[in-house]
Amino acid sequence: MQEALEEVIQFYKDNDIEIKTPIKIQKSEERIYALMELSYKTRNRYIENEEILDKEWAYRGLTKFLHINPPNKKIRELIKKNIIHSDTQPEESPAILIYDNELEELLSKNENPEKKLKTIFTHELWHIIEHEEQSKYDLISEGTATYAMYVYAQDTSMLDNIIDKKILYTTWHLKYEYAAAIVKKHLNGSTNLKKMLDNNIRREINEDYKQKTSALFDNVLRNEMFNNPLIFLTCINELFEQTQNSHPTKLSESIIFDSLNRREQQRVIEIYTFIQKKIDKMK
Ligand SMILES: [Zn+2]
Repeated sequence: MQEALEEVIQFYKDNDIEIKTPIKIQKSEERIYALMELSYKTRNRYIENEEILDKEWAYRGLTKFLHINPPNKKIRELIKKNIIHSDTQPEESPAILIYDNELEELLSKNENPEKKLKTIFTHELWHIIEHEEQSKYDLISEGTATYAMYVYAQDTSMLDNIIDKKILYTTWHLKYEYAAAIVKKHLNGSTNLKKMLDNNIRREINEDYKQKTSALFDNVLRNEMFNNPLIFLTCINELFEQTQNSHPTKLSESIIFDSLNRREQQRVIEIYTFIQKKIDKMK
């Protein structure tokens, strides 16, 4: 694994991007719910207004769909709680890439495990690069990391036509592939990854992404609620500060839930119950 990681670091170097953060790879005995998880202690940082607005926009899309209307100041409170990390860490604290058994299994079944692993590293390392460069995670951060991954694999063609296709996506698809397709469009297919760090280009992509996905949000969420309840659950869990795979036992401690009126709270409980039943049926 270390060797594959070094190669991807070199790939970025060849593209004139130097990663300064030391990186460690760690196996987790517990199940993680991604191919790989990136963990790094963030320094106390100033949150840019833009970043708050992005998150606010995303959460508003979801609350609109749920027919609930928490006050703006509560949404901001939640965002600040999630974004600001109180622990101040020295800059050289390492980024840790965490994986579990699932990844090993997936790689053992893959026909080109080495390449697969390197594309995963490319994605995760891009997050580290963005963090170093702008210390922020915005609406298109998964899209830029995904685009870097396709550039590494030397084939971005599967991103073509995504924007015009009239199929029902999942919110994950919107966040990753759909956003990557918009990135590709704004870079005119360029493989110069440094462009993704340019503030002006980034602003343009963010605006375009917002505009295009706003129109899709309701349909996507509806589709997801019925057909991909597990993904839908992760979305509402973030809004209501619930942990994965748990029943909404601590809803009353949630900033957003607490700010709703009785009728809205009832609605949220009904949706949780509905999703839970759907997921139980899948087991
Ligand atoms: Zn990612």
